[in-house]
Amino acid sequence: MTIAIIGAGMAGLSCAMRLREGGHAVTLFDKGRGPGGRMSTRRMEVDGETVRFDHGAQYFTARDPGFKEQVRAWHAAGIVAPWKAGGEDAWVGTPGMNAPIRGMAEELGVRFSSRIESIAIDDGGWRLEGDDIEPASYDAAIIAVPAEQAAPLLAPHRPEWSELAEGTVSDPCWTLMLAFDQRVAHEADAVREAGPIGWAARDSVKPGRGEGERWVIQADPHWSADYLEVNADDVSKLLLQEFASAIGKDLPAIAASSAHRWRFAKSGRAGAEKLWDADLRLGACGDWLIAPRVEAAFMSGRALADEILAEAGPA
Ligand SMILES: Cc1cc2nc3c(=O)[nH]c(=O)nc-3n(C[C@H](O)[C@H](O)[C@H](O)COP(=O)(O)OP(=O)(O)OC[C@H]3O[C@@H](n4cnc5c(N)ncnc54)[C@H](O)[C@@H]3O)c2cc1C
Repeated sequence: MTIAIIGAGMAGLSCAMRLREGGHAVTLFDKGRGPGGRMSTRRMEVDGETVRFDHGAQYFTARDPGFKEQVRAWHAAGIVAPWKAGGEDAWVGTPGMNAPIRGMAEELGVRFSSRIESIAIDDGGWRLEGDDIEPASYDAAIIAVPAEQAAPLLAPHRPEWSELAEGTVSDPCWTLMLAFDQRVAHEADAVREAGPIGWAARDSVKPGRGEGERWVIQADPHWSADYLEVNADDVSKLLLQEFASAIGKDLPAIAASSAHRWRFAKSGRAGAEKLWDADLRLGACGDWLIAPRVEAAFMSGRALADEILAEAGPA
Protein backbone atom coordinates (compact mmCIF):
# COMPACT_ATOMS: atom_id res chain seq x y z
CA MET A 1 0.00 0.00 0.00
CA THR A 2 0.94 3.64 -0.33
CA ILE A 3 0.44 5.11 3.15
CA ALA A 4 0.39 8.78 4.17
CA ILE A 5 1.38 9.43 7.79
CA ILE A 6 0.52 12.81 9.27
CA GLY A 7 2.90 13.62 12.13
CA ALA A 8 6.55 12.58 12.31
CA GLY A 9 7.07 12.39 16.07
CA MET A 10 8.01 9.15 17.80
CA ALA A 11 4.62 7.52 17.05
CA GLY A 12 4.46 8.37 13.34
CA LEU A 13 8.09 7.38 12.79
CA SER A 14 7.91 4.09 14.65
CA CYS A 15 4.79 3.21 12.67
CA ALA A 16 6.49 4.23 9.41
CA MET A 17 9.66 2.21 10.11
CA ARG A 18 7.66 -0.95 10.75
CA LEU A 19 5.40 -0.48 7.71
CA ARG A 20 8.40 0.10 5.50
CA GLU A 21 10.06 -3.07 6.84
CA GLY A 22 6.84 -4.82 5.77
CA GLY A 23 7.33 -3.48 2.23
CA HIS A 24 4.78 -0.66 2.19
CA ALA A 25 5.53 2.78 0.74
CA VAL A 26 5.21 5.45 3.45
CA THR A 27 5.17 9.22 3.02
CA LEU A 28 5.44 11.32 6.19
CA PHE A 29 4.22 14.91 6.60
CA ASP A 30 5.06 17.16 9.55
CA LYS A 31 4.16 20.79 10.15
CA GLY A 32 7.40 21.35 12.08
CA ARG A 33 10.48 22.85 10.43
CA GLY A 34 12.70 20.00 11.61
CA PRO A 35 12.65 16.66 13.41
CA GLY A 36 11.57 16.27 17.03
CA GLY A 37 7.89 16.77 17.73
CA ARG A 38 7.64 16.84 21.53
CA MET A 39 11.22 15.44 21.70
CA SER A 40 12.62 18.50 19.99
CA THR A 41 15.88 20.31 20.64
CA ARG A 42 15.97 24.13 20.62
CA ARG A 43 19.04 26.02 19.37
CA MET A 44 20.02 29.34 20.94
CA GLU A 45 22.89 31.76 20.42
CA VAL A 46 24.97 32.36 23.58
CA ASP A 47 28.02 34.64 23.29
CA GLY A 48 28.28 33.93 19.56
CA GLU A 49 28.02 30.16 20.00
CA THR A 50 25.10 27.92 19.20
CA VAL A 51 23.92 25.88 22.17
CA ARG A 52 21.07 23.38 22.39
CA PHE A 53 18.35 22.73 24.92
CA ASP A 54 16.01 19.76 25.27
CA HIS A 55 12.88 21.80 25.44
CA GLY A 56 10.26 19.03 25.34
CA ALA A 57 10.74 15.54 26.80
CA GLN A 58 13.68 15.54 29.20
CA TYR A 59 14.44 11.82 29.23
CA PHE A 60 12.62 8.59 28.57
CA THR A 61 12.40 5.15 30.08
CA ALA A 62 12.22 1.75 28.36
CA ARG A 63 10.24 -1.06 29.95
CA ASP A 64 8.64 -3.01 27.09
CA PRO A 65 11.01 -5.66 25.62
CA GLY A 66 10.39 -4.40 22.06
CA PHE A 67 11.21 -0.81 22.98
CA LYS A 68 14.22 -1.94 25.05
CA GLU A 69 15.57 -3.69 21.96
CA GLN A 70 15.13 -0.50 19.94
CA VAL A 71 16.86 1.57 22.64
CA ARG A 72 19.79 -0.89 22.66
CA ALA A 73 20.12 -0.38 18.89
CA TRP A 74 20.07 3.43 19.29
CA HIS A 75 22.64 3.13 22.08
CA ALA A 76 24.91 1.04 19.86
CA ALA A 77 24.55 3.69 17.13
CA GLY A 78 25.53 6.45 19.62
CA ILE A 79 22.26 8.38 19.43
CA VAL A 80 21.02 7.70 22.98
CA ALA A 81 22.81 7.34 26.31
CA PRO A 82 21.79 6.61 29.90
CA TRP A 83 21.42 9.66 32.16
CA LYS A 84 21.30 8.72 35.83
CA ALA A 85 20.14 12.15 37.06
CA GLY A 86 16.81 11.37 35.38
CA GLY A 87 16.55 8.03 37.19
CA GLU A 88 18.18 4.61 37.17
CA ASP A 89 16.49 3.67 33.88
CA ALA A 90 16.49 7.11 32.20
CA TRP A 91 17.79 7.63 28.64
CA VAL A 92 18.41 10.78 26.63
CA GLY A 93 19.14 11.41 22.96
CA THR A 94 22.72 12.50 22.15
CA PRO A 95 23.83 15.14 21.34
CA GLY A 96 20.19 16.31 21.78
CA MET A 97 16.89 14.70 22.68
CA ASN A 98 15.76 14.73 19.07
CA ALA A 99 18.62 12.45 17.89
CA PRO A 100 16.57 9.23 17.51
CA ILE A 101 13.80 11.16 15.76
CA ARG A 102 16.33 12.83 13.47
CA GLY A 103 17.85 9.46 12.59
CA MET A 104 14.52 7.89 11.63
CA ALA A 105 13.33 11.04 9.83
CA GLU A 106 16.47 11.09 7.68
CA GLU A 107 16.07 7.43 6.83
CA LEU A 108 12.43 7.85 5.88
CA GLY A 109 12.60 11.29 4.24
CA VAL A 110 9.96 13.34 6.10
CA ARG A 111 8.30 16.28 4.33
CA PHE A 112 8.70 19.06 6.92
CA SER A 113 6.86 22.42 6.96
CA SER A 114 3.83 20.48 5.66
CA ARG A 115 0.76 21.19 7.77
CA ILE A 116 -2.18 18.98 6.83
CA GLU A 117 -5.47 20.84 7.32
CA SER A 118 -7.82 17.98 6.41
CA ILE A 119 -7.95 14.59 4.73
CA ALA A 120 -10.53 13.43 2.19
CA ILE A 121 -11.44 10.26 0.35
CA ASP A 122 -11.48 10.54 -3.45
CA ASP A 123 -12.13 7.61 -5.77
CA GLY A 124 -11.23 5.16 -3.04
CA GLY A 125 -7.93 6.89 -2.16
CA TRP A 126 -6.89 9.38 0.54
CA ARG A 127 -6.01 12.91 -0.46
CA LEU A 128 -4.32 15.37 1.92
CA GLU A 129 -5.22 19.03 1.97
CA GLY A 130 -2.99 21.87 3.07
CA ASP A 131 -0.90 24.73 1.71
CA ASP A 132 1.78 23.56 -0.75
CA ILE A 133 0.80 19.90 -0.44
CA GLU A 134 1.32 18.18 -3.78
CA PRO A 135 -1.80 16.43 -5.06
CA ALA A 136 -1.46 12.66 -4.55
CA SER A 137 -3.66 9.73 -3.62
CA TYR A 138 -2.78 7.18 -0.93
CA ASP A 139 -4.26 3.75 -0.17
CA ALA A 140 -4.24 4.47 3.59
CA ALA A 141 -3.93 7.45 5.93
CA ILE A 142 -2.55 7.50 9.48
CA ILE A 143 -3.00 10.36 11.93
CA ALA A 144 -0.04 10.51 14.35
CA VAL A 145 -0.51 13.91 16.01
CA PRO A 146 -1.54 14.96 19.57
CA ALA A 147 -5.17 14.24 20.53
CA GLU A 148 -6.34 17.85 20.25
CA GLN A 149 -4.90 18.10 16.73
CA ALA A 150 -6.11 14.62 15.71
CA ALA A 151 -9.75 15.37 16.59
CA PRO A 152 -10.56 17.71 13.66
CA LEU A 153 -8.73 15.51 11.14
CA LEU A 154 -10.67 12.42 12.25
CA ALA A 155 -14.09 14.07 12.71
CA PRO A 156 -15.48 13.76 9.14
CA HIS A 157 -14.48 10.10 8.83
CA ARG A 158 -14.74 8.49 12.29
CA PRO A 159 -16.63 10.94 14.55
CA GLU A 160 -16.41 8.61 17.56
CA TRP A 161 -12.60 8.54 17.31
CA SER A 162 -12.66 12.31 17.12
CA GLU A 163 -14.77 12.41 20.30
CA LEU A 164 -12.34 10.04 21.99
CA ALA A 165 -9.48 12.36 21.04
CA GLU A 166 -11.36 15.44 22.23
CA GLY A 167 -12.04 13.74 25.55
CA THR A 168 -8.36 12.86 26.02
CA VAL A 169 -7.11 16.19 27.28
CA SER A 170 -3.40 17.09 27.40
CA ASP A 171 -1.70 19.10 30.15
CA PRO A 172 0.11 22.29 29.12
CA CYS A 173 3.69 23.02 30.19
CA TRP A 174 5.50 26.35 30.38
CA THR A 175 9.21 25.65 29.83
CA LEU A 176 12.04 28.08 30.57
CA MET A 177 15.46 27.55 29.01
CA LEU A 178 18.34 29.37 30.69
CA ALA A 179 22.06 29.76 29.97
CA PHE A 180 24.05 31.14 32.93
CA ASP A 181 27.50 32.67 32.87
CA GLN A 182 28.55 30.59 35.90
CA ARG A 183 27.58 27.38 37.63
CA VAL A 184 24.32 27.49 39.58
CA ALA A 185 25.20 26.78 43.23
CA HIS A 186 23.07 23.67 43.47
CA GLU A 187 24.66 20.26 43.82
CA ALA A 188 22.00 18.03 42.22
CA ASP A 189 21.48 18.08 38.44
CA ALA A 190 17.69 17.70 38.72
CA VAL A 191 14.97 19.18 40.91
CA ARG A 192 11.52 17.59 41.02
CA GLU A 193 8.20 18.95 42.21
CA ALA A 194 9.29 22.00 44.20
CA GLY A 195 6.38 24.44 44.48
CA PRO A 196 5.16 25.26 40.97
CA ILE A 197 8.33 23.79 39.43
CA GLY A 198 7.46 20.33 38.14
CA TRP A 199 10.99 19.61 36.95
CA ALA A 200 14.24 21.48 36.52
CA ALA A 201 17.48 20.02 35.21
CA ARG A 202 21.02 21.02 34.38
CA ASP A 203 20.70 20.35 30.66
CA SER A 204 24.38 20.97 29.99
CA VAL A 205 25.52 17.87 31.92
CA LYS A 206 23.52 15.42 29.85
CA PRO A 207 25.82 13.21 27.76
CA GLY A 208 27.36 14.90 24.72
CA ARG A 209 26.00 18.39 25.46
CA GLY A 210 29.30 20.32 25.55
CA GLU A 211 30.45 23.22 27.72
CA GLY A 212 28.45 25.78 29.70
CA GLU A 213 25.80 25.95 32.40
CA ARG A 214 22.30 25.51 31.01
CA TRP A 215 19.05 24.63 32.76
CA VAL A 216 15.58 23.67 31.59
CA ILE A 217 12.79 24.52 34.02
CA GLN A 218 9.28 23.17 33.57
CA ALA A 219 6.29 24.52 35.46
CA ASP A 220 3.83 21.94 36.76
CA PRO A 221 0.54 21.42 34.87
CA HIS A 222 -1.57 23.53 37.28
CA TRP A 223 0.74 26.53 37.21
CA SER A 224 1.10 26.18 33.41
CA ALA A 225 -2.69 26.17 33.01
CA ASP A 226 -3.12 29.17 35.32
CA TYR A 227 -0.49 31.20 33.42
CA LEU A 228 -1.25 29.82 29.94
CA GLU A 229 -2.19 33.16 28.37
CA VAL A 230 0.40 35.27 30.22
CA ASN A 231 3.18 36.60 27.96
CA ALA A 232 6.51 34.77 27.79
CA ASP A 233 8.55 37.60 29.38
CA ASP A 234 6.40 37.70 32.51
CA VAL A 235 6.36 33.90 32.72
CA SER A 236 10.18 33.88 32.47
CA LYS A 237 10.53 36.30 35.40
CA LEU A 238 8.07 34.37 37.56
CA LEU A 239 9.60 30.96 36.85
CA LEU A 240 13.08 32.31 37.49
CA GLN A 241 12.01 33.51 40.94
CA GLU A 242 10.33 30.17 41.65
CA PHE A 243 13.48 28.33 40.61
CA ALA A 244 15.69 30.47 42.86
CA SER A 245 13.41 29.88 45.83
CA ALA A 246 13.14 26.14 45.04
CA ILE A 247 16.93 25.74 45.32
CA GLY A 248 17.25 28.42 48.02
CA LYS A 249 20.15 30.19 46.25
CA ASP A 250 20.86 33.40 44.38
CA LEU A 251 21.28 32.73 40.68
CA PRO A 252 24.30 33.79 38.59
CA ALA A 253 23.89 36.22 35.66
CA ILE A 254 21.82 34.97 32.75
CA ALA A 255 23.56 34.80 29.36
CA ALA A 256 20.43 33.83 27.38
CA SER A 257 16.89 32.76 28.13
CA SER A 258 13.73 31.73 26.31
CA ALA A 259 10.32 30.54 27.46
CA HIS A 260 8.20 28.14 25.43
CA ARG A 261 4.53 27.38 25.97
CA TRP A 262 3.54 23.81 25.16
CA ARG A 263 -0.22 23.84 24.92
CA PHE A 264 -0.35 20.06 24.54
CA ALA A 265 2.64 18.70 26.47
CA LYS A 266 1.68 15.56 28.34
CA SER A 267 -1.25 13.70 26.82
CA GLY A 268 -4.15 12.05 28.57
CA ARG A 269 -4.73 8.27 28.30
CA ALA A 270 -7.46 7.09 25.92
CA GLY A 271 -6.82 3.43 26.74
CA ALA A 272 -7.04 2.29 23.12
CA GLU A 273 -3.36 1.63 22.15
CA LYS A 274 -4.07 2.39 18.44
CA LEU A 275 -7.04 2.87 16.10
CA TRP A 276 -7.46 1.18 12.71
CA ASP A 277 -10.44 0.96 10.37
CA ALA A 278 -9.66 -1.71 7.77
CA ASP A 279 -12.56 -0.72 5.48
CA LEU A 280 -11.66 2.95 5.39
CA ARG A 281 -7.94 2.26 5.66
CA LEU A 282 -7.66 4.99 8.24
CA GLY A 283 -5.66 4.75 11.46
CA ALA A 284 -4.42 6.78 14.41
CA CYS A 285 -1.50 6.38 16.80
CA GLY A 286 0.26 8.53 19.39
CA ASP A 287 1.07 8.77 23.06
CA TRP A 288 -2.49 9.89 23.85
CA LEU A 289 -3.83 6.44 23.05
CA ILE A 290 -1.67 4.88 25.82
CA ALA A 291 0.13 7.32 28.15
CA PRO A 292 2.12 10.60 28.07
CA ARG A 293 5.50 9.01 27.44
CA VAL A 294 7.99 8.57 24.62
CA GLU A 295 7.84 4.80 25.02
CA ALA A 296 4.04 4.84 24.73
CA ALA A 297 4.25 6.85 21.49
CA PHE A 298 6.71 4.31 20.08
CA MET A 299 4.55 1.36 21.15
CA SER A 300 1.35 2.91 19.77
CA GLY A 301 2.95 3.46 16.36
CA ARG A 302 4.37 -0.01 16.28
CA ALA A 303 1.08 -1.64 17.38
CA LEU A 304 -0.78 0.13 14.59
CA ALA A 305 1.77 -0.98 11.99
CA ASP A 306 1.61 -4.57 13.27
CA GLU A 307 -2.18 -4.59 12.95
CA ILE A 308 -1.99 -3.27 9.39
CA LEU A 309 0.69 -5.79 8.47
CA ALA A 310 -1.23 -8.67 10.03
CA GLU A 311 -4.35 -7.75 8.11
CA ALA A 312 -3.00 -6.54 4.79
CA GLY A 313 0.03 -8.80 4.87
CA PRO A 314 3.43 -7.67 3.72
CA ALA A 315 3.36 -5.72 0.45
C1 LIG B 1 7.48 19.60 28.06
C2 LIG B 1 7.38 18.10 27.86
C3 LIG B 1 7.99 17.23 28.73
C4 LIG B 1 7.90 15.85 28.54
N1 LIG B 1 8.58 15.02 29.36
C5 LIG B 1 8.61 13.71 29.10
C6 LIG B 1 9.45 12.83 29.83
O1 LIG B 1 10.20 13.28 30.71
N2 LIG B 1 9.44 11.50 29.52
C7 LIG B 1 8.66 11.00 28.52
O2 LIG B 1 8.71 9.78 28.25
N3 LIG B 1 7.87 11.80 27.80
C8 LIG B 1 7.82 13.13 28.06
N4 LIG B 1 7.04 13.96 27.32
C9 LIG B 1 6.07 13.37 26.38
C10 LIG B 1 6.72 12.88 25.08
O3 LIG B 1 7.48 13.92 24.52
C11 LIG B 1 5.59 12.46 24.16
O4 LIG B 1 4.83 11.44 24.80
C12 LIG B 1 6.04 11.90 22.80
O5 LIG B 1 7.15 12.59 22.28
C13 LIG B 1 4.85 11.96 21.87
O6 LIG B 1 5.16 11.49 20.58
P1 LIG B 1 4.04 11.55 19.45
O7 LIG B 1 4.66 11.06 18.21
O8 LIG B 1 2.81 10.86 19.95
O9 LIG B 1 3.65 13.09 19.32
P2 LIG B 1 4.54 14.35 18.89
O10 LIG B 1 5.94 14.21 19.33
O11 LIG B 1 3.78 15.55 19.33
O12 LIG B 1 4.53 14.26 17.29
C14 LIG B 1 3.44 14.72 16.54
C15 LIG B 1 3.96 15.45 15.31
O13 LIG B 1 2.84 15.83 14.53
C16 LIG B 1 3.09 17.08 13.93
N5 LIG B 1 1.77 17.65 13.59
C17 LIG B 1 0.76 18.02 14.42
N6 LIG B 1 -0.30 18.43 13.71
C18 LIG B 1 0.04 18.32 12.39
C19 LIG B 1 -0.65 18.60 11.17
N7 LIG B 1 -1.90 19.06 11.13
N8 LIG B 1 0.01 18.37 9.99
C20 LIG B 1 1.29 17.90 9.99
N9 LIG B 1 1.98 17.62 11.14
C21 LIG B 1 1.36 17.82 12.31
C22 LIG B 1 3.87 17.85 14.99
O14 LIG B 1 4.67 18.86 14.39
C23 LIG B 1 4.71 16.74 15.64
O15 LIG B 1 6.03 16.67 15.09
C24 LIG B 1 7.14 15.34 27.45
C25 LIG B 1 6.55 16.23 26.55
C26 LIG B 1 6.67 17.59 26.73
C27 LIG B 1 6.08 18.53 25.73
